[in-house]
Amino acid sequence: MPGYNVHRLFNYTVFIAIISVLFAWDKTLVDLRMLLALGAGFYIGTEFITPDLDTDSTAIKKWGRLKIIMLPYKWMFTHRQSSHNIVYGAIVRILYISLLVLGLYYFLFSSLPVENSILSLYIFIFLVGIIIANALHVILDTFL
Ligand SMILES: [Zn+2]
Repeated sequence: MPGYNVHRLFNYTVFIAIISVLFAWDKTLVDLRMLLALGAGFYIGTEFITPDLDTDSTAIKKWGRLKIIMLPYKWMFTHRQSSHNIVYGAIVRILYISLLVLGLYYFLFSSLPVENSILSLYIFIFLVGIIIANALHVILDTFL
């Protein structure tokens, strides 16, 4: 089973390789704002919102004191079972965190944010970055 740093090295190598190939192929394919949104999501998906939040991993320790919000997630999922599903594992983690964030937002402001501010293109690209990073994690776990 690959360790945390092996996952990080694999993810960043694949990300840089794909972006480099796309940039070399056609520079107009790489929009800087979209790349930043994708890269931010990819970073969060590699460092913090990983499939290994289902166990006592380096990823869950990186949450520091905030790891208390991920403990119910850890208790709900058995290590390397559905949380490591390449299709819905990352989506379940994103929904879990989104519910917490929206719940906090509602608690603070007594209303939910306007719909179109949640579903902006850049937030969608950010979420895709998390999903890609999580998929690479699962792929590496499958082969090593
Ligand atoms: Zn894993």
